[in-house]
Amino acid sequence: MSKLVPPHGGKGLVCSLLEGSARADELKKAAGLPKVEISARVKGDLIMMGIGGFSPLNGFMTKADWKSVCDKFTLADGTFWPVPVVLDASKAETDAVKVGDEVALMRKGEVYATMKVTEKFSLTAAEKKWECEKIYKGAGEDSGDAKFWTIAEADHPGVKMVMEQKEVCLAGPVKVLSEGDYPQKYKDVYKRPAELRAELDKRGWATVAALQLRNPMHRSHEYLAKIAVEVCDGVVIHSLIGNLKPGDIPAEVRVKAIDTLVEKYFVKQNVIQAGYPLDMRYAGPREALLHALFRQNYGMNRLIVGRDHAGVGDFYGMFEAQDIFDRIPVTGDKAKDLLCQPLKIDWTFYCKKCDGMASLRTCPHEKEDRVILSGTKLRKMLSDGSEIPDHFGREEVLVILRAYYASLTEKVEVKMQGAASGAKM
Ligand SMILES: [Zn+2]
Repeated sequence: MSKLVPPHGGKGLVCSLLEGSARADELKKAAGLPKVEISARVKGDLIMMGIGGFSPLNGFMTKADWKSVCDKFTLADGTFWPVPVVLDASKAETDAVKVGDEVALMRKGEVYATMKVTEKFSLTAAEKKWECEKIYKGAGEDSGDAKFWTIAEADHPGVKMVMEQKEVCLAGPVKVLSEGDYPQKYKDVYKRPAELRAELDKRGWATVAALQLRNPMHRSHEYLAKIAVEVCDGVVIHSLIGNLKPGDIPAEVRVKAIDTLVEKYFVKQNVIQAGYPLDMRYAGPREALLHALFRQNYGMNRLIVGRDHAGVGDFYGMFEAQDIFDRIPVTGDKAKDLLCQPLKIDWTFYCKKCDGMASLRTCPHEKEDRVILSGTKLRKMLSDGSEIPDHFGREEVLVILRAYYASLTEKVEVKMQGAASGAKM
C-alpha cells in the first residue's frame, strides 16, 4: 500500500500516452489527418499529459478553462490549476478544421499526438495581455506599472511566448504518441510519474520533497536539498530537462554535475535524481504552483521553494513564490485542492563568519561576510573565465562546468540583474 500523496484531481494518474499496437494504429490514422505544427512549449505539455504529469488534464484547455485558470487558479470545474495549458495553431492550418474533427499534432516532422477538437477559439491581443498580467506580472521592480509593458515583451520569455502565440487555439482531448527523445537522451533520469512513484514506494517513503532545479547544482542548492533530507523521508532532485532560455546550461551538463554531487556529498539512500520534460515558462509564483502540482503527480508532497523560484529578471518579489501558496483557493475537497505543500526556505549562502552554510534566518552577519551563490552569477563568472570564490560551488562540479564553457565556440552573454547579483540582500 502506497504511503504517497495521491495524484492531483482525484482520478489517479491520467495518462494519455498510447503504446504498442494502439499507438501503431493511431499513427496510421494520424497520417490521414490535417496537420498542425506545435511549439516547443506545447510539445512539453503534451508529453506531460501523456505520462500523467499533468493529471487530471487529458487535453488542451477550453476558453472557459483558460479564463478561470487566469482569474481564479482553477479549471472551469473548480479543480486547482495555476497556469494556462493551451494549444495555439496557425489560421492557415486550421481554417478547414471544425469542432468534432481530429487533427495530428506535429513538430519538425514527428507526430506527437492526435486530438479531437471540442472547441476552436481565439485570444485577442487584449486577452493575451490580460493573461500576461495575471500570470507573469509579479511584485518585482520590472513589473512596476510604468515598466512592465515597456520591457516584458522583449525581456520576459514567458510573456514573449504568449504574445507570439499563433492566431487560433484548439481545445480537446489528446492521444499522445511520442515522448520525444527524452527516454533515449536521458535514460537514467527521465522517469514517468508511475516509475518514480514505484521507486518511492520501494523505499517506503511517505513525505517526499522535490528540489526543482534548472541551474547547475551549487552549494546553496545542496544545502536546500540537505535541509529537506533532515525533515522528510527523502528528497528528489528533480531537474528540468526541457528547454531553457539561451545562455542557460543544458540539461546533460547539469545532470552530470548532480551525479557527481550525489556520489560524493549525499547519503545515497536518501536522495533520487530524476528529470521532467517540461519547458520553463518563467512564471515565478504561478510556476511554483505548477511545479508543486506536477510534483504531486510524481508522488512528492513537498516542494522546496527558495528565493525567486522560477523567476526571470526582476519581475517577481524575492519570496513571492512562497507567499502565493497562502493565497490560493482551498475548497476542502482533496480531489480539487493542491496537496503538495511548499517547504519554504530563506535565502541560503556560505557565510565566512558562520563558517558554514546559512540563511537569512540563521546568519546574523553582514552582506560582505556571505558568498552569494546565484546560478546566474556563477554562469557569468564561468563564461568570463574568472576565478570562482571559495565555497561558491564544489570543485568537482566546477570542473564539469568549466569543461562545458571551454567547449563552447560562441561566448554566452549572461545578463545580470539585481536579483542575481545580490543587490537586494
Ligand atoms: Zn553568518
